Amino acid sequence: MGEAVARFWREIPQRYNFMGNKCGSCERIFFPPREACPFCRRKSMGKMQEVQLTGKGEVVTYTIIHVGPEEFEEQVPYPIAIIKLEEGPQITGQIVDCSIDDIHIGLKVESTFRRIQAEGYTGAIYYGYKFKKCE
Ligand SMILES: [Zn+2]
Repeated sequence: MGEAVARFWREIPQRYNFMGNKCGSCERIFFPPREACPFCRRKSMGKMQEVQLTGKGEVVTYTIIHVGPEEFEEQVPYPIAIIKLEEGPQITGQIVDCSIDDIHIGLKVESTFRRIQAEGYTGAIYYGYKFKKCE
């Protein structure tokens, strides 16, 4: 891995390392991290602590997308799920490497980093997290 690439990976820790944060007052965990806890507000100021999330969770609900935005055309149909992470936060993500028939509420999944979108008019490639079934 070149130095420029290594630096790129280090500089965006929350997207690539699944960093969230925790309120030092009520201990709720947030992803993506928040500046203040929406429940404790002022009481949480200066008490938000970075936490490494496992990226593991389970499917709370899901939907199958049959007609996607143009950039995603090659992947249709694909499942989008709301995933409740082990630490508590719920996030939306695409499920990959899984037959649509295998997806169900309660399915255990873990995060994986994938190409999200290529080309577009800038020619840039975007990476981000998706979810796959736990082994
Ligand atoms: Zn709080």
